[in-house]
Amino acid sequence: MPDATPDAGFACPDLTRFCRLDELGLEVVGQRLDPDLAVLACGVVEPDGWCRRCGCEGVARDTVVRRLAHEPFGWRPTTLEVVVRRYRCTGCGHVWRQDTSKAAEPRAKLSRRGLRWALEGLVVQHLTVARVAEGLGVSWNTANNAVLAEGKRLLINDPTRFDGVKAIGVDEHVVRHEALLVRMEVRDLHRPAVVAAG
Ligand SMILES: [Zn+2]
Repeated sequence: MPDATPDAGFACPDLTRFCRLDELGLEVVGQRLDPDLAVLACGVVEPDGWCRRCGCEGVARDTVVRRLAHEPFGWRPTTLEVVVRRYRCTGCGHVWRQDTSKAAEPRAKLSRRGLRWALEGLVVQHLTVARVAEGLGVSWNTANNAVLAEGKRLLINDPTRFDGVKAIGVDEHVVRHEALLVRMEVRDLHRPAVVAAG
């Protein structure tokens, strides 16, 4: 067999890092590859075993699965099935779930990378919501709601968003779709970076 040792500068193959899940506080523990969908089973790296109410230690009770649409690789959607531990406090009985806020907004159906991919697809690549939804493997409504919520969050919750911006252009146009979505793009005209989309 020919020697396949790579040159210096290559690290060992690592699905967690390849899919940028380390940035989301997750670790891949399994994969299920279908022709039209890749599912990655993930665990949450930080244990989160201390009670937020009284500070006592909790005992792991059971687990729940949180499904998140992640950014696609190639043309195949990638879905995360995150196994989230549930703890019960030994002191006060409070029950809580492992913190997954690094991976996604509370109750969100898209991972933070998935959401980023959706926003860049819509605003930078001018994909339709239908195409973004197809790429993520979610319904049109799920993709649309996620993008609108993130646009609103960026515009309303970040008072520093326009720092250093000298002029703002608002470009409103209608995306071809039966639901008639009006998309607004707020851009820094001197720096072609997208500030927000909603
Ligand atoms: Zn407690």
